[in-house]
Amino acid sequence: YVFSVSDLEISRAQIPKPVDQLAEEIGLLPEELEAYGRSKAKVRLSVLERLQSQPNGKYILVAGITPTPLGEGKSTVTVGLVQALSAHLKLNSFACLRQPSQGPTFGVKGGAAGGGYAQVIPMEEFNLHLTGDIHAITAANNLVAAAIDARMLHEATQSDKALFNRLVPSVNGVRKFSPIQISRLQRLGIRKTDPASLTPEEINAFVRLDLDPSKITWQRVVDTNDRFLRKITVGQASSEKGQIRETGFDIAVASEIMAILALADSLEDMKNRLARMVVGTSCSGQPITAEDLGVSGALAVLMKDAIKPTLMQTLEGTPVFVHAGPFANIAHGNSSVLADKLALKLVGQDGFVVTEAGFGADIGMEKFFNIKCRASGLRPSVVVLVATVRALKMHGGGPNVSAGAPLPREYTDENLSLVAGGCCSNLKKQIQIAHLFGVPVVVAVNVFKTDTQAEIDLVCQIAKDCGASDALPCNHWAQGGRGSSELAQAVKEAASKPSDFQFLYNTEMPIVEKIRTIAQRVYGADDIELSPEAKSKTDYYHQQGYGSLPICMAKTHLSLSHMPDKKGAPTGFVLPIRDVRASIGAGFIYPLVGTMSTMPGLPTRPCFYDIDLDPVTEEITGLF
Ligand code: ADP
Repeated sequence: YVFSVSDLEISRAQIPKPVDQLAEEIGLLPEELEAYGRSKAKVRLSVLERLQSQPNGKYILVAGITPTPLGEGKSTVTVGLVQALSAHLKLNSFACLRQPSQGPTFGVKGGAAGGGYAQVIPMEEFNLHLTGDIHAITAANNLVAAAIDARMLHEATQSDKALFNRLVPSVNGVRKFSPIQISRLQRLGIRKTDPASLTPEEINAFVRLDLDPSKITWQRVVDTNDRFLRKITVGQASSEKGQIRETGFDIAVASEIMAILALADSLEDMKNRLARMVVGTSCSGQPITAEDLGVSGALAVLMKDAIKPTLMQTLEGTPVFVHAGPFANIAHGNSSVLADKLALKLVGQDGFVVTEAGFGADIGMEKFFNIKCRASGLRPSVVVLVATVRALKMHGGGPNVSAGAPLPREYTDENLSLVAGGCCSNLKKQIQIAHLFGVPVVVAVNVFKTDTQAEIDLVCQIAKDCGASDALPCNHWAQGGRGSSELAQAVKEAASKPSDFQFLYNTEMPIVEKIRTIAQRVYGADDIELSPEAKSKTDYYHQQGYGSLPICMAKTHLSLSHMPDKKGAPTGFVLPIRDVRASIGAGFIYPLVGTMSTMPGLPTRPCFYDIDLDPVTEEITGLF
């Protein structure tokens, strides 16, 4: 096997089959496909209706141990596993992956198409604009932001009557409410449909959202690691008449609209969720929604194509759905419910769908179960837990690993005691976390060329001693699907056994109790500590009736705790909850742990230094 070639060169050496051929092979009808170029296509949701009576395939989740900043190969294992299931076990299989964000692609970690001989191709298209879903999310999110500031300006500068006349214009001498306006009237308890019949008090209630500028929770977004946008001031031009306020940007993939895309189960459900999004609070303490702003229909229009998953393929021609976004640390970071549901129908009863949850099992998998499975009603049969010798050595006490720097000797030479230390702490804990949900675990040791046989054997032995159903090395990065055929066999066997799925908490528990349960049972914390702001927001969410939503923790992915430098399985810590936000459209409460930021920054030497384009051949170089 050639180790000196880059992921991009491997990807480019394989010509993907035309996407219409791939679609035909997996049983899609020509009218169910919307091609974007030659090798990718959006798939219409009508497939779900056509295949309604088809039983679902087996559902497999790929999660991981706490990673190094370089990533431990979850995407690579996901791709290698479907390649093995398909080409070597001759089973229908499908991978569901998340669309990469340009933050990591141009920042530290690079793309997310997998790697080596386990990749989605063409990897340039996968890693860059794909079919424009993240652009659509950015446009929709920022339309809401523009609507908020413009509305506050207009309310500040116009009388009730002038506002009413502009919001409900007269056409041929007749004023008529739009459906979105009728829905707002109903929520205000005004049961009138003739604009002429509203009293001045009712007009006042209808036209004035009265947003409290200090209680606006909606932020603008951009899909770039642009740390200088974390805090900004808007409205500085004189034309904005002094409507200046501080706000900020989040990275687009951590936005509520991305979470909605991942959790919606139909166009109608997405539209309703977009309408329910709370953007802030009025001066009298009432939540203000996207529907109050009159923008929810336009958001659905911007998102109508993004809701369809994009079909691509692996290097070995296995089908892949790419949908929704990453960042399980500051978002829920799972691929979409719709992609998983479509794939489960397409593979049929004996087939396998392998879906990926971001980062370590403590965050990506916990959110997969408690948020995504609750929304979808789907239950996986097996968790594949990806471990690497290098990350285990780090958890066992090895020196820090950082992107761009050469790996210290401890990582390139055999060191069984560091490996054992990492297995008995982080790997053991992550296996226990998966077992909290009653699902069997198969540990996949993603083999790197510096790993020794003794190190790999040790990981497999300790993993089985810790209760994994099986544990085995996989070599898909170097060998493609063939290198994962034993893993595929083990997954197939584990999936044939009954699993005993359960949620970690009942959503009816108070918000603080749900947060405490995750902190103690998943992260290993002694307790939690809420800031006064987090406490008062929690009380407010209960008053507003949001108390029974599941929890989406924003926590570092680099440790089981909130402290990125605490490796292994830390104990004896109290988890600080700095703030608590609510994503009502997505349907979760969103606590911010410690110093977690929702807009990453760029390192001194970002990946973009190596990315270039040959203007003659249009070939891209430097992506990985
Ligand atoms: P994750 O999904 O866990 O973040 P990825 O699958 O994206 O990790 O892999 C992270 C990076 O590591 C990619 O650039 C990938 O090519 C590389 N990689 C993964 N597995 C191996 C391996 N076994 N040997 C060498 N490089 C690997």
